[in-house]
Amino acid sequence: MTRYDTVVLGGTVVFPGEGPIRCDIGVRDGRIAAIADDLESSAGDDVVDARGLHVFPGGVDGHMHFGIYRSIAEDVASETESSLVGGATTALSYFRTGHHYLNKTGPYREILPEVLAASDGLARIDYGYHLAPMTSGQIDEIEWLAGEAGIASFKYFMFYKGLNLAGDSEDSDAFTMSDDKYDFGHLFSMMEQIAAADARRGGEGRISLSLHCENAELIKLFMARTQAASLQGARAWHEARPPLTERLSVHEAAILADATRCRVNLLHLSSAEALRGALEARSLYPSLDVRCETTLHHLVLTHDMLDGTGGKVNPPIRTRDDVDALWDAVMRGDIDWVASDHACCMESQKGDDVWPALPGFGGTALLYPVMLSEGHHRRGLPLERVADLVSAAPARAFGCHPQKGSLTIGADADLVLIDLDREQVVTPELLHSAQDHTPFEGVRLKGWPVRTILRGATAFADGEVVGEPAGRFVARPCPARAL
Ligand SMILES: [Zn+2]
Repeated sequence: MTRYDTVVLGGTVVFPGEGPIRCDIGVRDGRIAAIADDLESSAGDDVVDARGLHVFPGGVDGHMHFGIYRSIAEDVASETESSLVGGATTALSYFRTGHHYLNKTGPYREILPEVLAASDGLARIDYGYHLAPMTSGQIDEIEWLAGEAGIASFKYFMFYKGLNLAGDSEDSDAFTMSDDKYDFGHLFSMMEQIAAADARRGGEGRISLSLHCENAELIKLFMARTQAASLQGARAWHEARPPLTERLSVHEAAILADATRCRVNLLHLSSAEALRGALEARSLYPSLDVRCETTLHHLVLTHDMLDGTGGKVNPPIRTRDDVDALWDAVMRGDIDWVASDHACCMESQKGDDVWPALPGFGGTALLYPVMLSEGHHRRGLPLERVADLVSAAPARAFGCHPQKGSLTIGADADLVLIDLDREQVVTPELLHSAQDHTPFEGVRLKGWPVRTILRGATAFADGEVVGEPAGRFVARPCPARAL
């Protein structure tokens, strides 16, 4: 009899984009080795009973921020545990030089090894990094980063240009610690380098630029108006950075992407107007590869649900009409993937005043639960589309498919066993994050992982982590491998 390390028996397996099929999975050496209608329990050294459960591919949380407000080591250790709760088995985290993170600048040839060393041995899920070139020297490193260092995705912040980002004493140049102007010239040369790297290696996996689209000049105007009106809280933050700033910024970025033929990802689209900009860009430049992300919080929260400053995030939490527009786009297929934009940010770092509060909060523990509860149960989103939105699509976009985000022979055996009927009300404790509050507190969600498996080994079961941290760095692009 063919032997397996583990057999997962009796479940309904949700293949991304294809559908739920009753079948069994055999795992050998951490990879999927068999998919069959009936495997023997005696064929596996370990047997996982999946009867009554749905087996999804491990989630790929394509937007996290390890080490933004605490040390990288602390965040990697605690926040990848939080990812397991929501069924993510791969985290792709944004890192840049400058203020926050390591609070310094320099070549990525020196800083990337430092980031990887700080992460090593601590992660409970596999992980990769997106890097933001902030200096002209770092732009020159893109060829090396994409060619040899395992970095297939980069980032540019459209709103850093001339905006006071870290309190009254600091302008954006001090914040980014850039040697050149962090402007459209910087962006254009980044896009040229990324497009060239994609032309060389794109066959192995997509090499792309992620964009945070908000317009700094308009934010300055609307922030002054909002502050003059003495507004506070989540609504004030929304009015200080209105959706128009997103749409304008999407168009600016799309023109440069079209000119350089750079593949782009429009991150965390938060509003009907941002979405409109993205769809306009796609129709204006039909041959341009424009992919769209939204977040769990922009699909669930509205500013009038939030008290205090805990829900401050960029772009801001918006209105019910915006939430509905984003869900319509998810249902139509105009949004490619959903991510958490997880940034562990303590209540003390938020404070009582929305203006100096640090932006961002955690959400990775809710990846599958939000999409199953609000998408599948509430709106009829098919299970295979849920699997695509949280696993296969981000893996393809960020150059790690089919090693990740796939239930095919030879893929990493990252599996999530989910009870579609399990209901829980969100509390900070449930999320297994170091963050001591959550803007999702009190939200009832239906559809939770009961077991999360990383490369064949159970890493989380029945509400508790299992075993030692076993996460590894995923070098991208990672081409398909033969068993
Ligand atoms: Zn982010």
